[in-house]
Amino acid sequence: MTGQSKPNRERREVLLRKQIVVRGVVQGVGFRPFVYRLALEEGLTGFVGNDTDGVSIEIEGPEERVEAFLQRLSAEPPPLARIDLVEVHELGACEIAATNATGFQIIASDAKGHVSTGIPADAATCPDCLRELLDPNDRRYRYPFLNCTNCGPRFTITRQIPYDRPQTSMAKFPMCPECQREYDDPANRRFHAQPNACWVCGPRVWLAGPDGVEIATTDAVAACIDRLIAGQIMAIKGIGGFHLSVDATNEAAVMRLRERKHRYGKPLAVMVRDLEAARAICVLTAEEESMMMTSARPIVLARKRDGGGIAEFVAPGIPWLGVFLPYAPLQHMLFADERVRVLVMTSANLSEEPIAIDNDEALRRLGEIADAFLMHDREILQRCDDSVAAVVDGAPQLLRRARGFVPLGVPLHFDAPPMLAVGGHMKNVFALARGRFVYQSQHLGDLENVTGLDFFRESLDHLMRTFEIEPQAVVHDLHPGYLSTQWAKEWAAERKLPLIAVQHHHAHIAGCMAEHGLMGTVIGLALDGTGYGTDGKIWGGEVLLSRLDSFERFAHLEYVPMPGGDAAIKEPWRMAFAHLRTAGFDVESAASLSGANEQEARVLDRMMERGVNAPLTSSLGRLFDAVAAIVLNRRVVDYEAQAAIELEGIAIDETDRLSGTGYVPELWASGSCADAVPDGSSIIRTSSMWQAILNDLKSGMSTKRIAARFHSGISEGFIWAVANAREKTGITRVVLSGGCMANRRLAQLLREGLEEEGFEVFQHRSVSPGDGGLSYGQIAVATAMLNKLDGKMN
Ligand SMILES: [Zn+2]
Ligand SMILES: [Zn+2]
Ligand SMILES: [Zn+2]
Repeated sequence: MTGQSKPNRERREVLLRKQIVVRGVVQGVGFRPFVYRLALEEGLTGFVGNDTDGVSIEIEGPEERVEAFLQRLSAEPPPLARIDLVEVHELGACEIAATNATGFQIIASDAKGHVSTGIPADAATCPDCLRELLDPNDRRYRYPFLNCTNCGPRFTITRQIPYDRPQTSMAKFPMCPECQREYDDPANRRFHAQPNACWVCGPRVWLAGPDGVEIATTDAVAACIDRLIAGQIMAIKGIGGFHLSVDATNEAAVMRLRERKHRYGKPLAVMVRDLEAARAICVLTAEEESMMMTSARPIVLARKRDGGGIAEFVAPGIPWLGVFLPYAPLQHMLFADERVRVLVMTSANLSEEPIAIDNDEALRRLGEIADAFLMHDREILQRCDDSVAAVVDGAPQLLRRARGFVPLGVPLHFDAPPMLAVGGHMKNVFALARGRFVYQSQHLGDLENVTGLDFFRESLDHLMRTFEIEPQAVVHDLHPGYLSTQWAKEWAAERKLPLIAVQHHHAHIAGCMAEHGLMGTVIGLALDGTGYGTDGKIWGGEVLLSRLDSFERFAHLEYVPMPGGDAAIKEPWRMAFAHLRTAGFDVESAASLSGANEQEARVLDRMMERGVNAPLTSSLGRLFDAVAAIVLNRRVVDYEAQAAIELEGIAIDETDRLSGTGYVPELWASGSCADAVPDGSSIIRTSSMWQAILNDLKSGMSTKRIAARFHSGISEGFIWAVANAREKTGITRVVLSGGCMANRRLAQLLREGLEEEGFEVFQHRSVSPGDGGLSYGQIAVATAMLNKLDGKMN
C-alpha cells in the first residue's frame, strides 16, 4: 500500500496515493483547473498535468476524500470535456517531495511523443461569458471575441498541435497584462484559455463595403444591425466561415439574396435570439430543443409554425425550417438589439463551393452578393460549415457533421489500423482512423470542382497533422468516376499504400453496424440516391445480407433507366418518363404524364431504347423523384433531394399510417421469375404502382394522401423483402441506412413495421445516414477485411 517510505506511522495508515490517467477530450477544455479545484475542495495534495494521452493526475489523502475525488472527477467534468476512460493505479511511494507542504499543483505539459487528444471542437459562448458580454460594468462589455475555457473557437483557429496559443490564429495578438493574469491563474475561468482576449489586446471588428474599403462607424456591429433592419444583405464573418445574412421577416430582402445567389429553392437557415424566439417560429419537441442547446449549436430542422412571420422565400414549399441559436459573441450582439428577431444565416458561398473564410476571398467571391461586410481580423484557419441535425423517428440524427463536432472522434468497437477513407463524391467527408476512433473531417461539400478538391487536400493535411496519423491503407468508393476515387488511387500510388474499394451501400450499412457494435450478418436496407454497384449499375434501393467484411445482394428495386445520367437527378421529369415507360405506358401517355414535350419524349425514348447515356438504376431516391414529378409537378430541382423532401413534406399532416392502402410494389422472389432475376436477387417491382397512383390522381384524391400512400406502400414492399430474407436466413437484425433515411416518415414507417414483424431495428445516431457518413462505414469495412474481424469475433 501507500506511504511505505514515510516516517510518520500514523499518516501511513490513513493516506492513500493514486495515479489517475484520464483519456478523452480533456485538453484545452479546462480539465486541469477543474482537477485543481476538485483536489483543493477535497483537501488532497499532488499534481495534474497534460500528457500525450490526456491528463495525468497524482493525488494523496484520506481514503474517503480520495474516493469522493474519483467520484466527482467522472460526475462533474467541465462542459466541453468528454471522458472516455479513467485508469486508476495505486502508488506505493510519493514521487513529489513534501506534497503536503506544497498542496496541489498544475505542472507543465509533457509534449513529447504521440499525441492522441488532438484539438477540441468549437463551442458556443457559455452563460458566464454571455453575462459579461451584456454587462455594461464588465471590462468585456460588447467585446465580440470574448471566450473562456468553457467556450470559444478551437478547431477553426488552430494551425497544428499542440493546441497552444502560438499554434492558433491568436498568435498575433499578445495578451495584455490583465488577460495574461487570467490566463496564468489556475483558479480563473480563463486559465489557459488559448483564444483569451479583450478590447485592449484582442481582435477587432469593422464594417467594409463590397470594395473592401472600411466604412467609418462608431460601432460596427450597431451599424451592421441598422443595415440588416433596412433590408440589406450583410456578409458576416463567423467562426467557421462567412455567413450571408438578411432579415428573415423581410420578403423583399430574402428574395434579393436569392436573386443575387441565383438559388431559388434551397431552404435558408435562420438564427434566432433564444429558445423562446425559436418556439415563436417553429413547433419544437423537447429533443429538438435540447439539440439546439448543445454547445455545438447545430442547425435543427424543425416544423415551421404557421403565422411565425418568416418570409415565404426562406424555405419555400416545405413544412420545415432550419433554425439555430447564436454561438458566437458577435451573433449574440446582433440579437441584443430588440429590433432583430430572425436572421437568415446561410453559408456564404456560390452554389456548392466551399464556405468563404478569408477576408479577401470573401470580398472576391461575395462582392456581387453582399451590400456590406462585417469583418474581423482573427483568421479562420479551418473552414467549417454549420452542422445540421434533425430528430428522425424520435431520435437525434446528425445530417451534416461540421462545426462543434469536428474533430471529435466517433468510437469504434474494434481496433482500426491507421487508415484514410476518402468517402464519396457529393457531400464529401473523409475519415482518418486509428485504434478505437474514427476522425471524420468537416463536411467538405461536392468534389465536383477544383475548390472542392483543394478543400479536401487542405483539410486532410490538417487532420493528419492534428492526430499524427500516417495512413497505412487508403479506402475509396467502388465508383471509378468519383474524383475521390481517382485522387485516392494517385495518393496511394505515390505512397505505395494498399487500396481498398468498398461498395457504396455496403459502406452505408457497415457504418450503422459499426456504430452499434454489430458483428455477424444483418439484413441491411440501404435506401439511397445513387451509388455504384458491383454490376456497374446505379444502386440505391437495396436489401443486403451484410457482414462487416462482405455482403450479398438479396433484393433490390427493379432497374429503370436514368435518361441523361446525372441530368436525370436534376430533372425529375426524366425519371417519371423512364418509370412510366418501364411500366408499359406508351410514349404519348408517358410524355403527357411526366410533362415532357414531344421532342423531349422522342429523345428520351431513343436514349432508353439504345441504352445510350441511360444507365440502369435501382435507386429509391430516383423513384421518389419520379413520383414527385407526377404528383407535385416537380419537373426540375434546385437542390439535392428537393423532390423527395417535398413529397415527404406534403404528407406531414397525414397521421394515418394507411396500412394496407399504400401502393405496394410486387416482390418477385428469386427463382419465381427467372428472366427477371439474372443475379439471383429478388426484384421489388414498382411498375404495378403507377396505375394505382394515376387512378387516385384522376379520382381527385388529395396529393397529400397520395404522397402518404406512396410512403406506406414502399415501406411495406421493403418490409416484405426483409421478411423474405429472414425466412431464408433466420436473421432478425435489420440495419437502416442511406440518404433516404433522413425521410422521417419513411424511417418511422419502416422501423414500426419491422418491429411489428418482430425484427430488431438499428438506425444511425452520431454518423450521418447519407453520404456524409460513408467514410465511417468505409473504415469499418476495410478494417474488417484487413483483420478478418468477423471471423475473429464470431
Ligand atoms: Zn465562456
Ligand atoms: Zn486583454
Ligand atoms: Zn449513398
